Amino acid sequence: MGYRAFLIKYAEIALKGKNRYLFENALVDQIRRALKSVEGDLRVRKEQGRIYVECHSETYDYEECIQVLTRVFGIVGICPVVILEDQGFEKLAGDVVRYMETFYPDCSQTFKVNARRARKSYPLQSMEINARLGGVILDAFPKTKVDVHHPGLMLNVEVREKIYVYSQEIRGLGGMPTGCNGKAMLLLSGGIDSPVAGYMISRRGVSIEAVYFHAPPYTSERAKQKVVDLAEQVSRYCGPVRLYIVNFTDIQLYIYDQCPHDELTIHMRRYMMRIAEHFAVEDKCQGLVTGESIGQVASQTMQSLAATDQVCTLPVYRPLIAFDKQDIIEIAQKIGTYETSVLPFEDCCTIFVAKHPVTKPSLKSIERSQERLKEKIQGLVEQAIETTEIIEVGVQSI
Ligand code: ATP
Ligand code: MG
Repeated sequence: MGYRAFLIKYAEIALKGKNRYLFENALVDQIRRALKSVEGDLRVRKEQGRIYVECHSETYDYEECIQVLTRVFGIVGICPVVILEDQGFEKLAGDVVRYMETFYPDCSQTFKVNARRARKSYPLQSMEINARLGGVILDAFPKTKVDVHHPGLMLNVEVREKIYVYSQEIRGLGGMPTGCNGKAMLLLSGGIDSPVAGYMISRRGVSIEAVYFHAPPYTSERAKQKVVDLAEQVSRYCGPVRLYIVNFTDIQLYIYDQCPHDELTIHMRRYMMRIAEHFAVEDKCQGLVTGESIGQVASQTMQSLAATDQVCTLPVYRPLIAFDKQDIIEIAQKIGTYETSVLPFEDCCTIFVAKHPVTKPSLKSIERSQERLKEKIQGLVEQAIETTEIIEVGVQSI
């Protein structure tokens, strides 16, 4: 007796109304996408407001399947299911005893049977199934007791074409299926924060593209590879990510040449935003996403954030805005990006950073120094856009 299917649970509270089917279809799509990498013929089926993953091959990789499903946003619980043929109640009773022996060998906790008769032609009603299977279990395992209020084990028996038995629920990530809430452009650096920001926004159903600014030869190939790796790690949750890699060197050097050094980071960030927005608009994204949080560094004070926002027409989403660094680190560890993020490769922002950056930039002064960039900056931005490299990350799992 083994698990041949999974019942997928999703939070229904958020789903009332006419859009429910959109959410469910997006979830089915995401589950299908995620399961492509798992060995075995696994099929996803939506039936009467439930989603099942069923195995149609002799074998499949159970552990891998669970692992993949626990990375799909929108799933709150995964219940491994044993599927039984309907060959009469006596046979079902025997199979349920075997189920208990197989998965709960010491059978000492309290239990409750929770039957659901989805196939109305089945001869017993739900309450009768509960009572009779409960009696069978009590007879077979004298150490158990029924507890209808707080059972140690809830044995669910769903009568459909076949009979589905399950009692375990593995927790999912929650959130909403990627893609059901639009698309955003993530500014992805090699640091700890931005991959977490990408993960968090896509957990709300937003699919992401990403843009990385590098400054060769000041930043290395390895620093770039690190960002590709991070995009790949985030794509395990949110699906394929189109990654734009922008050569930012000439813009940085020009800003370094022309602007007061205590304002460098602000100007660089403003040009990053402008270029990110260019690709975002081109690809029909509805917003930009960064890993900033208030006060973390000089360029993330409320005044600095306002100075970067000023150049954007799309909304800028900052999922980590009120998070402490330690909280962010814990999420990074949980989602598996931390190890890569802390690899010690140089970032383009740290190379040109001032010793004493302004913490409260005034917009007037920023605009005044921006005037000094007038002569060449437009050409440099266009050149950076034209020479941008695009890598499709995470598509091999499709
Ligand atoms: P992170 O850990 O995400 O790098 P950080 O704490 O190092 O963040 P900053 O370097 O100030 O913070 O960057 C703030 C945000 O700006 C980042 O979270 C990211 O969204 C964006 N950003 C910074 N540098 C780059 C870059 N080289 N390419 C793309 N985005 C960047
Ligand atoms: Mg950084």
